[in-house]
Amino acid sequence: MHDDRQLVEARLKRVLDERIRPAVYPESVPLEVAVWHAPGEPVPVAEGLSAVPEPIAVGDRWGAPWGTSWFTVTGTVPAQWAGRSVEAVLDLGFDENMPGFQCEGLVYRPDGTPVKGLNPRNQWIRVGAPVEGGEEVRLHIEAASNPVILDYHPFVPTKLGDKETAGTEPQYRLARMDLAIFDETVWQLVIDLEVLGELMAELPVDSARRWELLRAVERALDAIDLQDVNGTAAAGRAELAGVLATPAAPSAHRISAVGHAHIDSAWLWPLRETVRKVARTTSNMTALLEDEPDFVFAMSQAQQWAWVKEHRPEVWARVVKAVAEGRFVPTGGMWVESDTNMPGSEAMARQFVHGKRFFLDEFGIENDEVWLPDTFGFAAGLPQIIKAAGSKRLLTQKISWSQVNTFPHHTFLWEGIDGTRIFTHFPPVDTYNCSMKGSEIAHAARNFKDKGVARHSLAPTGWGDGGGGTTREMVAKAARLRDLEGSATVTWETPADFFAKAEADYPNPPVWVGELYLELHRATLTSQAKTKQGNRRSESLLREAELWAATAAVRAGHPYPYEQLDRIWKTVLLHQFHDILPGSSIAWVHREAEKTYTAVAAELNDLIDAAQRALAGNPGSGELVFNAAPHARNGVPAGGAAAVAAPALAAELRTRDEGGYVLDDGLLRVEIDGRGLVVSAYDLRSQRETVAPGQAANLLQIHPDFPNMWDAWDVDQFYRNTVTDLVEAAEVAPGEEPGSVRVVRSFGASRVTQLLTVKAGRLDIRTEVDWHETEKFLKLAFPLDVHADRYASESQYGHAYRATHTNTSWEAAKFEACNHKFVHVEEPGWGVALVTDSTYGHDVTRAVRASDSGTTTTLRVSLLRAPRFPDPETDQGVHRFRHALVPGATIGDAVREGWFINLPERRVPGDAVIAPLVTVDDDAVVVTAVKLADDGSGDVVVRFHESRGGRARARLSTGFAATGVAVTDLLERPLADVAAPELTDGSVAVSLRPFELVTLRFSR
Ligand SMILES: [Zn+2]
Repeated sequence: MHDDRQLVEARLKRVLDERIRPAVYPESVPLEVAVWHAPGEPVPVAEGLSAVPEPIAVGDRWGAPWGTSWFTVTGTVPAQWAGRSVEAVLDLGFDENMPGFQCEGLVYRPDGTPVKGLNPRNQWIRVGAPVEGGEEVRLHIEAASNPVILDYHPFVPTKLGDKETAGTEPQYRLARMDLAIFDETVWQLVIDLEVLGELMAELPVDSARRWELLRAVERALDAIDLQDVNGTAAAGRAELAGVLATPAAPSAHRISAVGHAHIDSAWLWPLRETVRKVARTTSNMTALLEDEPDFVFAMSQAQQWAWVKEHRPEVWARVVKAVAEGRFVPTGGMWVESDTNMPGSEAMARQFVHGKRFFLDEFGIENDEVWLPDTFGFAAGLPQIIKAAGSKRLLTQKISWSQVNTFPHHTFLWEGIDGTRIFTHFPPVDTYNCSMKGSEIAHAARNFKDKGVARHSLAPTGWGDGGGGTTREMVAKAARLRDLEGSATVTWETPADFFAKAEADYPNPPVWVGELYLELHRATLTSQAKTKQGNRRSESLLREAELWAATAAVRAGHPYPYEQLDRIWKTVLLHQFHDILPGSSIAWVHREAEKTYTAVAAELNDLIDAAQRALAGNPGSGELVFNAAPHARNGVPAGGAAAVAAPALAAELRTRDEGGYVLDDGLLRVEIDGRGLVVSAYDLRSQRETVAPGQAANLLQIHPDFPNMWDAWDVDQFYRNTVTDLVEAAEVAPGEEPGSVRVVRSFGASRVTQLLTVKAGRLDIRTEVDWHETEKFLKLAFPLDVHADRYASESQYGHAYRATHTNTSWEAAKFEACNHKFVHVEEPGWGVALVTDSTYGHDVTRAVRASDSGTTTTLRVSLLRAPRFPDPETDQGVHRFRHALVPGATIGDAVREGWFINLPERRVPGDAVIAPLVTVDDDAVVVTAVKLADDGSGDVVVRFHESRGGRARARLSTGFAATGVAVTDLLERPLADVAAPELTDGSVAVSLRPFELVTLRFSR
């Protein structure tokens, strides 16, 4: 037979595009349209409904950037349409290719009941199926003219990302406002042809099935009269029924489709817009659930549920009903889909505490799968936290975005730093916005790495990023793919049902140990420094506020601020969302975040101050030092306060013979040369030099930094090809503080001022940068005379190791990585730590010196970048950083110094001696939280972990009358299967595995 395949395929495309799809709405009449533009920010629904609108016509422009326009559409269903299905077709000026990234609307009835969201792939509102004819139609649309930030030519700097700079130019043109007959048979024919055409394209050209489909499609096209598509659609469908009825092969891959809308809690829109995005999407999804009995929808991020509850009670009622039916499913169990690299130990834990608690309080539902499809890499501390929260499974697909290495599994056990293993699934469909296209389904089946031993994968199905969710077209396609020859099978399922099947299917999955590093978006550890500093400061202040408020409550009956702490935690957790903390949102988001963090700091400082004053005793007679760190400091116990000890003596400052200065405190002697660079840091106790010979530390380096894509997210490896060392100093002189050296440099349009001091054997570096560069990367380098194959970076509840070499592509790809409070490198017996109060990005490289064949391990912390998308002014302005170099540091020293630099002492007038609520007799055991139980019982909750990667046996003593103790999960619920340690005279003996995390709850 002659090969006419391409001819038939081309025929299918043209006939679908030009004849069949347009016949879905064969007749229409225009609606009357009027509009009221809200003058500023969004208004309450009642105000929008009652505003007096002015006429507007289809074709008119509307919508200043970030504006809200309330459209009113009215019309009458023509009498001759009686018996037909009729829809309102409302096109605000959509570009079909950009669901979630442009204008959107939520449709209301005149009484304020929400109907459905409008977005580019969802423009219809059902009027009647069937109608009687003569019905009056009146609908209101709350339309948001969100500008397009990420356009066809992506990553172009734009001022549209902040209402303050976006201007008032209308962004959209009203495209269609009609009542139309909806011909369901034609619509079904479209779906039939799409499913078969897309499946056909994925099958091998030499497969019999492909040709069966081709011939069936040809017969269908022959049966359709192009001058009467509506009259002949049924005949066309009849020709396709046979090929749609043949079942899938027994070995077919099995896809669990989960209805989903990945909604970024802020990104190319501000937080307030996400509140509305969630309302639109949930309206759509509850409506779709009513229409489609097999459909299941899952939504993560308790914060988004809370927004619906607070801001759209009418939508919330529908959500609650669908949840009760088990078809609208809470998933994830986190407050938001957060970043997991940067959040500190307690914050990461609280993501689960507040997420799970919301679902438990509202619905009595606890899910055990963690849902993070889009997060930029996964820290190795996370598995233990997942388990401690009572969860046991993880879903993400983001690692498929890695640029270099292909991850070897789709279903596996992920092992964290402490040995906890979590059953993990990467959907092989490689998207969290599956639309049930044949290419996606075939890709999932082909791509699945665990073929032969496992058969199930999950497909998050629905428009996401900016929301929208699943469409009726996706549901209709899934129905045809349920059991279809040549395709993977598709079934709507909850995440929990999927995981149960996948686990049963695959009893011995492979194991991946250590972090799930995303080989992309590495610059998210640095971009928007103020957001990152706000996060770190908030985490530290929350620790202090809980500690001192709990101490004041127990010791002085001071009221514990439950409500405030709950609210502030949720604010901080929200800002750890995977486009806020990573610095990848528009300017508006980061401008607001900075303000929010300032308010959070003020409120927490007030709480801390009130608690400390309640504890401090007589303010007239002395000064107390409060130590919130988990280790004793200058004679003040961890978590306690005592009269001021003698302040640490300032280092001796003398001039250096070769120029510059020497700082010496008897433990560490630092030489700063005439360029303001640290050419020696001599550890006097070990008699050992820290700085590599012939090199200089505290060296600022600038690189050009213009990645190929994703400016705020990415730094591409080639940035290192060009570097400028900032060695010219405008000033090197003694600083204002005794025993300090001040260094000032100017470069480009920027200026850096540093203050170097030596105290307690540590070189402290305070860096102030007035940053006015464009597309540059600023690093602070420390070339160390250390020979090490690996180095440690702090992660949650411990640290993880990475290689200093680049033997394989996996190691080479980790050229920028995350630390929390410290990075540590060591040779047996001697190490160096670098601790920081606010930076996360760093790199570590090695070189062998020609001069002495020694190894230089260069540690560089990342200070600032200057990408121009999506915020064209990223990081411009003044920034302050604090770092300390700790020569001779063990890993234990690194842990302790990391806490110290983040939790400075506080001095408060008073004369009391304040014993800690909790003391531990082993410094390896770090207490990360002391607080009162969230349930208001007055119980004291203490969370601690082994911090050095070894075993610890310790005695934990309470400084209050403890009457009982229980081991609990992160939600402070006693663990039924773990015996409580014996409480003897208010203390318990604990024995910890490496990095083991434990929560104890003491009753009083
Ligand atoms: Zn996302």
